[in-house]
Amino acid sequence: MKIGIVGCAGRMGRMLMEAVMDAEGCALSGGSERPESDFIGRDPGEMLGRRPLGIGITADSRALFAASDAVIDFTAPSATLAHALIAAELGKVLVVGTTGLSKEDEARLAEAGRRVPVVYAPNFSVGVNLLMALTERAAAILGTDYDIDIVEMHHRHKVDAPSGTALGLGRAAAKGRNVALDSVWCKSRDGQTGARPRGEIGFATLRGGDVVGDHTVMFAADGERVELTHKASSRAVFAKGAVRAARWAAGQSAGLYSMRDVLGL
Ligand code: NAD
Repeated sequence: MKIGIVGCAGRMGRMLMEAVMDAEGCALSGGSERPESDFIGRDPGEMLGRRPLGIGITADSRALFAASDAVIDFTAPSATLAHALIAAELGKVLVVGTTGLSKEDEARLAEAGRRVPVVYAPNFSVGVNLLMALTERAAAILGTDYDIDIVEMHHRHKVDAPSGTALGLGRAAAKGRNVALDSVWCKSRDGQTGARPRGEIGFATLRGGDVVGDHTVMFAADGERVELTHKASSRAVFAKGAVRAARWAAGQSAGLYSMRDVLGL
C-alpha cells in the first residue's frame, strides 16, 4: 500500500514517514510541504537519516495524492480542508489527525467522507481511544452526582486549547450522559464564576515543556473521586495508529470514520 504524508517535515510528519517506512506491506509514496518550506526537494529518507528514497519532498499535494493509495494529514485546518477536496476528487483514502477544526470544517470533512473513506480522530493512540470508551461508560454509570472535569497538559508549542483529545473525551462523557457537549461545557474558568452548575463538563488546560500529551478525566462526587488518566511519552504512538487507520480504511466503503471504528471499540 502506497501512503503519502502531507506536512511531512512537521513534528508529526516526520514520525508518520518513519511509521510508514517501518510498516509491513506499506511504502512511502512521498511527502509534501508548504511551497516556502526549506525542505522542498529534499529526500525524505536522507532527512530522517535513513537510506535515500530517490524522491524529493514536493509542494504539489495533488501530485502526492495521485501517487498514493492513502494520504495522512497532520497539518493545519485550512490545509486539511484543501486536502479533503483533493482526496474526494481523486478517490483516495484520507486519514486526518489535524486538530482545531471548527464545526463547519468538520462538515466539509464529512462531505469528503461521502465520496471516499476518511478517518478523522483527535488522537490516534490506542490507549486514548480506550480511555474515550471508558469515559463514556463511566459517565453513564456515575451520573450527574459526579462532576466531570478534563485536565490536559501539552508542550509549549501547541496552538489550540483545549486539546482536540480533551474535547473528544468531553464528547464521550456527554454521550454517556445523553447530552450535547456544547450545551454543558465550560472551556475555562476565570474570576467570579459562581458555583459549579450541576451537569457541567469542565476543561482545564496546562501548557509547558516538551509534554507529548497527558489527559485526566475526573469524576468528583461527595466522598469520592474517580480519575482516568492517559499519558503519552512518544509521538510515535499517534503515527503508528494513523498508519493502522490508513490500512483499515483501504478496505472500507466511503464514510467518515473515527479511531474507535478502526479499533472496533
Ligand atoms: P507542526 O507545525 O510541527 O507540523 C505541521 C506541518 O504541516 C508543518 O511542517 C507545516 O509546514 C505543514 N503544512 C501546513 N500547511 C501545509 C500545506 N498546505 N501543505 C503541506 N504541508 C503543510 O505540527 P505538529 O505538532 O506536527 O501537529 C500537526 C497537527 O497534528 C496539529 O493540529 C496537532 O494538534 C495534530 N496532532 C494530532 C495528533 C492525533 O493523534 N490526532 C497527535 C499529535 C498532533
